[in-house]
Formats: sequence, C-alpha cells, structure tokens
Amino acid sequence: MTTPSSRNPAAAPDIANAAADTGPQAPGWHGGWLFAPQVQHRASPNHGPRPAGACIDLAVLHSISLPPGQYGTGCVAQLFTNQLDWEAHPYFQSIRGLEVSAHFFITREGAIWQFVSADARAWHAGASAWRGRSNCNDDSIGIELEGLEGHAFAADQYPALAWLLAHLAAQYPLAHLAGHEHIAPGRKNDPGPGFDWPRLLALLPPALRHRLRLPPGI
Ligand SMILES: [Zn+2]
Repeated sequence: MTTPSSRNPAAAPDIANAAADTGPQAPGWHGGWLFAPQVQHRASPNHGPRPAGACIDLAVLHSISLPPGQYGTGCVAQLFTNQLDWEAHPYFQSIRGLEVSAHFFITREGAIWQFVSADARAWHAGASAWRGRSNCNDDSIGIELEGLEGHAFAADQYPALAWLLAHLAAQYPLAHLAGHEHIAPGRKNDPGPGFDWPRLLALLPPALRHRLRLPPGI
C-alpha cells in the first residue's frame, strides 16, 4: 500500500518547474493570441472565421520582405494592417490594393509579431492544397519569416521559429509543417532554398520533431 508519506519531496522539482512555467511572464494563449515577452501583437483586419470544425493541424512557412530584400523597414506590418503607402516604393505598385495577412511574422532579429488570432483564418496561402485538403487558409497557421526567396535566413530566426512552433503545438493539433512552395507548387517559391530545414528540425523538441509530417525530401 502506498502511504501518504511515500509521496515525498522527490516530486518537488517537477512541481517547481511547472510553477516556473506559469509565472506572470510565462507564455500563454488567450483567444488565439500568444502572450509572451517576445511576442508583439499588431492586429490585422485581414482575417475571417475558419470553417466550423476546422482541424488546425498545418503550419505553413513563408518568406517576405518589403521592399524585397530590405529588412527592418516596417513595411510588412504596414501591408498586413492595410497601412502601406503604395507610392512609397516602385515595387509597391505591383502589389497595390493587396489585402493579406499571416498569423505570425518573425523578424531577422528573431522578434515575433502576431497579426491574426490563430483561432481565425488569416489570408496567407491563397490557392493551395496539402495533406489531401485544399484551401489551406481554412485550417493552417501562417508564419512569415522576414527574408527573400533564395537568400539565407538569419540565425536568430530559427530558434524563434522553433519556440513558436512548440507553443503552437501545445495549443493546436499541429501534425504537418510545410512551406508555401509545397502547398502551392508552381505558383509560390517561398521560403525557398535559403531556408535550412534541418537546422530548424534540430531545434525542435524531439517529440514535436517526430510528430510533424514534412514535405517529401525534407
Ligand atoms: Zn508565402
């Protein structure tokens, strides 16, 4: 028979660790928004409801920079919040009027900005299909990395992305991870060959690494 006294302080370290993870600065989800010191919220109007019963089991990786190849301009946040000045750069003429968003954006420094509740449908994928289902916006999380197709991403972006994926996987039934180039082949090429998939996978908790299904060849 197990006596009460056998439940000894040996359990204390786990309890202490759990307590350490639930302090006022601990990451937490509220209404699909991730609250953590390293996450900034910048609400985008470009979203809508997900279909009833949507199983949010896919994370889609993208890359974006505005103007292309220029970092830290703030223009991506302006685009996602419909505040971009279309006259500010010649390239912007080619995307004039575009209304898009992603749930998350990771800067070159590894800062995370959230634009849309993960419970809502962001507008990042367009015409797409993956794991036998089309319209990936319906049931995916879109994560934009500040970058340019074919260029290397910054070192600080990988641990930030791994951290974000781990927290997403704790809240949503993530089972698939793919790039925009995989869910919209021939139409999209991001994040492109500059994204180091093995580097990301090495940073994921082992259980998550085994849980996520990846595109063939990765
Ligand atoms: Zn994309």
